[in-house]
Amino acid sequence: MRVFNFSSGPAVLPEAVLTQAAEDMLDWQGTGTGVMEMSHRGSAFSRIIEMARADLADLLGLPSDYAILFLQGGATQQFSQLPMNRLKKRGLAQYVVTGAWSAKALEAAGKVAPLTGGRVEAVAGDEESDFSDLPFFTDEAFDPEADYVHLCTNETIHGVEMDEAHLPNTQDAPLVADMSSHILSRPMDIRRYAMVYAGAQKNIGPSGLTVLIVRKDWLEETPPDWLPDLLSYQVQARHDSMLNTPPTFAIYVAGLVFQWLKAQGGVAAMERVNIEKAALLYACIDQSGGFYRNGVASEARSRMNVPFLLADPALIPLFLEHARSAGLIELKGHKSVGGLRASLYNALPIEAVRVLVDFMTHFAKTRA
Ligand code: PMP
Repeated sequence: MRVFNFSSGPAVLPEAVLTQAAEDMLDWQGTGTGVMEMSHRGSAFSRIIEMARADLADLLGLPSDYAILFLQGGATQQFSQLPMNRLKKRGLAQYVVTGAWSAKALEAAGKVAPLTGGRVEAVAGDEESDFSDLPFFTDEAFDPEADYVHLCTNETIHGVEMDEAHLPNTQDAPLVADMSSHILSRPMDIRRYAMVYAGAQKNIGPSGLTVLIVRKDWLEETPPDWLPDLLSYQVQARHDSMLNTPPTFAIYVAGLVFQWLKAQGGVAAMERVNIEKAALLYACIDQSGGFYRNGVASEARSRMNVPFLLADPALIPLFLEHARSAGLIELKGHKSVGGLRASLYNALPIEAVRVLVDFMTHFAKTRA
């Protein structure tokens, strides 16, 4: 029996996708072989990757001057290799820090900066913040000459989401976003960004795949000589993400997820359900008379990741145990912030949130 899985990632996948993958496991479309066993250079896999790319471009409404790369190494590798590729000698990279992941990206870039001879700085937000709101910044904080400005548009741990209305105006400085935990959950104007990256294991598919969406003019510039080919966006793009063996099975499953998303009505339809799911859970928390608490400012609250505290933290183990018995799993908060967290990615049905809210309401009534 399947349970309702609120994991922050790797996370729940659409049941239809898992069923299809199981059906195809031994024989993909009459080839007599499963996708995991195929050469990445064969015609069958070429069809799979091309279809996945086309469907993702379609879902995102991607303009033709952007490329999609299917890479490995996770979002962590992306925020580490970004400055290697883009932070120039005597250049500057600016970081908007909205939570734990953008702080990690800043730290990683700080380590790379001496290699490239560039500089990194936080323009807004810092480690001292409790990340309960979007940081304050003015347009003047951004250097139009910066090599790039990095931000994380959905902070998975702190449950802080930045919508397009709150994006900084960086003038000519290109924006780069880590969208790992909310890509495809709402319509997004990719034109606002020079590059977007996302680890797949939340809204896209299995872990092991990282999706990179990059404006083609960024691929024209040659990175420093010392950069290994595997870490070079330019070389990866020239080899069509196949400089070495790509994560073939993860790409195939992601392709199934893209088809499933299209069948649901695409990203706009997904957003409508996601708004409803998040509203149900935040209402339950806010109307619990302080039994549960989410401290994030309302306009910064994430629709995808909802961290919350119990007024009495000693009840957490009991909450988790009873939730498990009710078929609700992975509700423990990230170890760095404690408490509880429910992740409400695209593949999590609204029914799961209804069951969770009923459970939470009942738990609060009996323990308050
Ligand atoms: N960025 C965000 C927003 C994340 O949520 C995560 C993972 N939870 C990461 C980066 C790191 O991803 P990975 O494990 O794929 O490196």
